[in-house]
Amino acid sequence: MLIESYDLEIEVSTHSTAHFEYEAHARLQVDISAALPYLNATLSRGIYLPEKNALSWRHEGHNIGFWPYKISVDHLDSKEEAREIVERLVGMVNQVWEKRDEIEPDRTTHKRLQPLELYRLLPRINCKRCGEETCFNFSLKLAAAQAELASCRPLYEDETYRTQREQLENLLAVKWPAL
Ligand code: SF4
Repeated sequence: MLIESYDLEIEVSTHSTAHFEYEAHARLQVDISAALPYLNATLSRGIYLPEKNALSWRHEGHNIGFWPYKISVDHLDSKEEAREIVERLVGMVNQVWEKRDEIEPDRTTHKRLQPLELYRLLPRINCKRCGEETCFNFSLKLAAAQAELASCRPLYEDETYRTQREQLENLLAVKWPAL
């Protein structure tokens, strides 16, 4: 097991003015640098920066950062959620590390998600059910991890959008990777 233990720090986020949020930092006793290219190969739309020895990943509305001795996550509603997500992230790193012989490491830096790429897959009917005036506005928020895909109800209620929804889920890494 790569990460056997960690110290968890949970603090009130200073970045969010919209509502009360937490961010959490798992301080590791082991350097996970060697695992980052394997994580990069596994996570949809992770952004690996080899020169900084860091990997960022947007998932379920959270900005997640993997560093040599730290894993950070923000946009957390409660301390319980912080503990649960950090535990899952640590478990994921350990699983990827266990399976590294089956994974081709990826040391490239993936492109950032582009709103237009998302917009093309949305229903583009501007129904406003997500709270946005247009699907394009929603795509801007999706790309910035400020909106959840599930807020677009037509995608989930109308089976004709199924393929688009699955493509969006992959792009946005809505699901945890199957390891
Ligand atoms: S709910 Fe979906 S289809 Fe309706 S405006 Fe929002 S993004 Fe577009």
